[in-house]
Amino acid sequence: MNDYISKVLEQTKKKNSHEPEYLQAVKEVLCSVEHLVEKHPEYEKLAILERMVEPERIITFRVPWVNDKGEVVVNRGFRVQFSSLIGPYKGGLRFHPTVNQSIMKFLGFEQIFKNALTGLPIGGGKGGSDFDPKGKSDNEIMRFCQSFMTELYRHIGQDVDVPAGDIGVGGREIGYLFGQYKRIRNAYEGGVLTGKDICYGGSLARKEATGYGLIFYVREMLNAHASCFKGKTVTISGSGNVAIYACEKATSYGAKVVAMSDSNGCIYDKNGIDLDLIKQIKEVQRGRIKEYLNAHPDAEYMEKTSDDSPIWTIKADIALPCATQNEVTLNSAKKLVENGVIAVGEGANMPCTQEATDYFLANGVLVAPAKAANAGGVATSAIEMSQNSMRYYYTFEEVEAKLEKIMVNIFNACKENAEKYDCAGNYVAGANLAAFEKLANAMKAQGVV
Ligand code: NDP
Repeated sequence: MNDYISKVLEQTKKKNSHEPEYLQAVKEVLCSVEHLVEKHPEYEKLAILERMVEPERIITFRVPWVNDKGEVVVNRGFRVQFSSLIGPYKGGLRFHPTVNQSIMKFLGFEQIFKNALTGLPIGGGKGGSDFDPKGKSDNEIMRFCQSFMTELYRHIGQDVDVPAGDIGVGGREIGYLFGQYKRIRNAYEGGVLTGKDICYGGSLARKEATGYGLIFYVREMLNAHASCFKGKTVTISGSGNVAIYACEKATSYGAKVVAMSDSNGCIYDKNGIDLDLIKQIKEVQRGRIKEYLNAHPDAEYMEKTSDDSPIWTIKADIALPCATQNEVTLNSAKKLVENGVIAVGEGANMPCTQEATDYFLANGVLVAPAKAANAGGVATSAIEMSQNSMRYYYTFEEVEAKLEKIMVNIFNACKENAEKYDCAGNYVAGANLAAFEKLANAMKAQGVV
């Protein structure tokens, strides 16, 4: 490996030894931009890599709130403002008990590259809390969101930092967060949060955007290899925002989605998933995926009992991990390859371990990397911001057409860069190379800041 990259990786390891997910994300990017770094000896002199891996700012804060029993609960809040190189910090908020600084930093780091790939003026950030929304009443969710925003508001703004949703943060949470921000600021600043409901400044098609965008990207990737969705069997992990709308779009292209999951297990329905029922269970009842069997007793339920999710043992042509990081292990990758998978599309952030990705690539499986393939969500968030600035709105069809164009452009950038740097067909490297070069150019142009 290039000496400069090795040196920066070593330093990053030393400084962040207790942050495995963050180190995993940094290693994946730096190891794939070697040819680019070699072409640009000035990167070392300007400490481009060192600056790229150091967040501009990390904010952590206490979030006290009162539950329905009258007890005081304290959670920890985070906002990682990673890079404002090409626009205001932009990235979602995650509410999940596993949230910690390593996960926030890995997500913030990935977000810089993803946002650069969209071609839109947005920097990278991420935030959230170790709060667990599962089983909480609406009032508890509201009180938590209000307390969270009472601290966060001083660090964000429509030209400064624009959060959105992620795991555990959907339309309901964004509404409570926005209401509290507006109350504290005594101003309607529509562009301060994205993923808002349509009735107070949201964008049509934002809810669908990440899942639809993933399918547009995978469609382009399959086309480039003389294949398509029609007639293919698909498995999709998760049953949240990304998974549901990936399922909807893939089905509209003639694919058959046979399995979906949640953190407890997966359902396998050989007749094809009943998506209306999944929406009812997950979006309305906020229930468990196992409840699918009440309406479809012929379907099968497999409990998750280890790190190797049972969904990846199901035979599929295309696998779309849309739940969480590192959910596709090397064991799962081997099983998918043994069962003849041709493509993997990452809807979640960093869902494949490095070993799993390497195994797929070594076995000729097409991989659509998260930072490119799931960029449709943040791209549509930027379209939401621009509608807020214009005090105007686009129709669903207009937003979807813009999203589709952006995803096609992202795929083309990944393809061209992979070819330019002698790794044709490796879209993981292509995405990293395309985004890195753009960011490095912006860093050079703006001086040492
Ligand atoms: P949701 O909260 O809507 O859904 C998450 C889904 O993943 C749920 O089915 C959940 O199951 C499952 N899940 C969460 N954590 C785990 C875990 N540790 N193990 C197994 N399953 C898990 O989130 P989103 O759909 O919004 O996000 C999914 C992924 O997509 C995340 O990686 C996110 O960062 C990424 N992403 C999201 C974007 C967006 O616009 N929403 C944009 C770009 C990326 P359960 O209900 O049991 O917890």
